[in-house]
Amino acid sequence: ADLTHIRNFSIIAHIDHGKSTLADRLIQRCGGLTEREMTAQVLDNMDIEKERGITIKAQTVRLDYTAKDGQTYELNLMDTPGHVDFAYEVSRSLAACEGALLVVDAAQGVEAQTLANVYQSIEHDHEIVPVINKIDLPAAEPEKVKAEIEEVIGLDASEAVLASAKAGIGIDEILEAIVTKIPAPKGDRDAPLKAMLVDSWYDPYLGVVILVRVINGVLKKGQQIKFMIGGTEHLVDRVGCMRPKIEQLPELGPGEIGFITAQIKEIAQTRVGDTITTVKNPAAEPLPGFKEVQPVVFCGLFPVDANDFEKLRDSIHKLRLNDASFSFEMETSAALGFGFRCGFLGLLHLEIIQERLSREYDLDLITTAPSVVYDIHMNNGELRQLHNPADMPDANHIDHIDEPWIEATIYVPDEYLGALLKLCQDRRGIQKDLTYVGGRAQIKYELPLNEVVFDFYDRLKSISRGYASFDYHQIGMREGDLVKMNILVNNEPVDALSMIVHRGAAEARGRHMCERLKDLIPRHLFKIPIQAAIGGKVIARETIAALRKDVTAKCYGGDITRKKKLLEKQKEGKKRMREYGSVQIPQEAFIAALRMG
Ligand code: GDP
Ligand code: MG
Repeated sequence: ADLTHIRNFSIIAHIDHGKSTLADRLIQRCGGLTEREMTAQVLDNMDIEKERGITIKAQTVRLDYTAKDGQTYELNLMDTPGHVDFAYEVSRSLAACEGALLVVDAAQGVEAQTLANVYQSIEHDHEIVPVINKIDLPAAEPEKVKAEIEEVIGLDASEAVLASAKAGIGIDEILEAIVTKIPAPKGDRDAPLKAMLVDSWYDPYLGVVILVRVINGVLKKGQQIKFMIGGTEHLVDRVGCMRPKIEQLPELGPGEIGFITAQIKEIAQTRVGDTITTVKNPAAEPLPGFKEVQPVVFCGLFPVDANDFEKLRDSIHKLRLNDASFSFEMETSAALGFGFRCGFLGLLHLEIIQERLSREYDLDLITTAPSVVYDIHMNNGELRQLHNPADMPDANHIDHIDEPWIEATIYVPDEYLGALLKLCQDRRGIQKDLTYVGGRAQIKYELPLNEVVFDFYDRLKSISRGYASFDYHQIGMREGDLVKMNILVNNEPVDALSMIVHRGAAEARGRHMCERLKDLIPRHLFKIPIQAAIGGKVIARETIAALRKDVTAKCYGGDITRKKKLLEKQKEGKKRMREYGSVQIPQEAFIAALRMG
């Protein structure tokens, strides 16, 4: 298409502010799908996305819009993932656009996630079109939200479009604003090919599909292309766009967004942010902004039923076909048997993978406590990266330990501020900033990631009755007074329950864990000590009393059918128990003990 008739934009919104609903409206208005083909929210196409109402993978769709000036424009709408775990993907999607719609809920106002994305958008020099959505709601306060956009973000909101994606209000105004306000892309058709790899996914029919934004040159079927960072070469066998149905095209020219397939077998070969060029006439250098994505949260995944190990392995391999951002390696645990140590971009990413394994592959799993990656500086100068508390070297050989820190931005209504500050303080937070914006506080805290991965987000939501919003980014490694805490059951350490904790928090956490286990482990014929220990030093202790003889007698005496039933029940129970230092620990105990609270 003619460059001047192309508009590339993304939609920025906090979760639930109406991004997907608006995208659907735009598709519908531009005739991308017939009424019958419009199932709700076509852009969110995974079950989990639909249920949780968040976008996990970026998708894009091309629309033809005939504007009031009589010209037909090619609009490329890029949907961006709506969660902090996928911040890098968001940055690449934004880099592929010239503008953005900033969708703000007329009843909720500006939220933390909105801000993070809007600042990124501004960094990419985007033209930003504010859209105040949900004006149909009785609680809508469009004027107040306009003022908030100006005050908080510093954007001129006087021409913000007032819309209701649900009721179909303001849709034409939004489309006109896209055409008139967002600039057309620039690019040189005669320069060597330079295209950004924005996203990729595995399609059962097409294989690996790559979403691209062409900067310079032309992408065509039959070209031999090269990934400048990944280093591999491939033959392009399909070029097209999504409307959102797939449509093949003769080429993608400068400024255009579309997809290619190139007989690529593994998604791991396609790195988001890589630059695609031709082998024959390569570009001089790759595009800026590429980043290697690294998992930041690790945990062990074990099958509840040890016989499911093979199934778990196959399922993990299959999932990995579609998501190269999680990593895994085999792990054995004395308590839990064979499983995998997996790495994720964040806690939500972990939950998604875990949920897909149980839902799509029908697996019952035990997840060990999530852990971040620590830099262990040894006395001999060696640096070790620790992903698993079980691999912690002897404390005598350690010089010091560095842990990852984040900067968190939290928005919270005034009445919950006190409780929230306490939560941050309890998690070793360092307050950096506290400002008020229209009845709400914006706080910035530096926090150790380790304190956030457990249950910070859940606590934040429950403290604020769901009203606080939270966003974070990593700010580097800092030295911490960290120790490995072991949990011993009947004097034997249970590897699956060991964790790295800050020395100051160890006692409280250890006590809590012992108390929980005391309730979770059934009584035996002997006394069972449960201890939390750092090195050889016990810091917390509970004891499960022995089962009294007469209780057993009562149980096993009496009528024969009842006895049989009991035996059967026991057998069943056995399967789901792991023996530890001659103590039978039910699987549920591990799961429940690891759930902090
Ligand atoms: P997203 O998380 O930003 O993609 O938000 P969704 O598009 O999934 O919308 C979140 C919820 O808000 C859904 O229940 C929508 O039906 C609802 N919603 C979206 N737009 C509007 C609107 O204009 N008015 C009202 N009343 N509800 C809306
Ligand atoms: Mg959505």
